[in-house]
Amino acid sequence: MSDPGGTTSGRDERRAELVQGLGRVRARIADACAAVGRAPTDLTLVVVTKTYPASDVALLAGLGVRDVGEARLPELRDKHAALTEEAPAAGRVPLRWHAIGRLQRNKARATARLADVVHSVDDPRLVPLLSDGAGETGLGCFVQVSLDGDPGRGGVVAEDVPALCDAVAGAERLRLLGLMAVAPLGQDPSAAFARLRDLGEQVRADHPAATALSAGMSGDLEQAVANGATHLRVGAAVLGQRPPLG
Ligand SMILES: *Cc1c(COP(=O)(O)O)cnc(C)c1O
Repeated sequence: MSDPGGTTSGRDERRAELVQGLGRVRARIADACAAVGRAPTDLTLVVVTKTYPASDVALLAGLGVRDVGEARLPELRDKHAALTEEAPAAGRVPLRWHAIGRLQRNKARATARLADVVHSVDDPRLVPLLSDGAGETGLGCFVQVSLDGDPGRGGVVAEDVPALCDAVAGAERLRLLGLMAVAPLGQDPSAAFARLRDLGEQVRADHPAATALSAGMSGDLEQAVANGATHLRVGAAVLGQRPPLG
């Protein structure tokens, strides 16, 4: 991809693409909500900006996006710096940064320092590290569930969800928001998200405040909305296809 922020006309063109992408996604969310009698205002759209430049994040912020998602610490760090430290626009509403990628223990503290929400807590050993890195106001956390039972791709298996939720809820600076999942490849996302919703209801019996569900990406946001998602993590449908990882 060329540098979309490189020239004024390039930036205007990119802005127009993002306006279109956002418009399409917001319309899909509105339709999906209407189909099941939900209010679009109950949903948080997290625009996943991984692999895209900080200039795109700045354009998105100008278009009213408040929640952005990053998968890897170095990118989170660079864009967070570019958007908040190097170019603090006067009066701009601050962005909320969502860490959505697999967390390594040696990066957990630093991730917690920068992120407002972490979607991918999947190991009790991360809990004290995240709590340590979190600020005074606390860090919102989703426990990631592996719906295909293969934790190699991230997430804990269903049996381990209650104990991990207890650990997060018990940590001084962490707030348990709810559960997160990625629909397993090659399976019906509706069935997967229905299962996530059931697991979320079980968690709420012990943790009534953990009402959020992070589910749904570019390809399956409708199924996620139909199954109670509160947070959608959408990248490609807003920003365009990512170049394949090298
Ligand atoms: C990349 C990513 C997304 C966004 O995927 P798109 O298909 O681009 O919408 C959502 N969630 C996670 C965990 C991701 O890694």
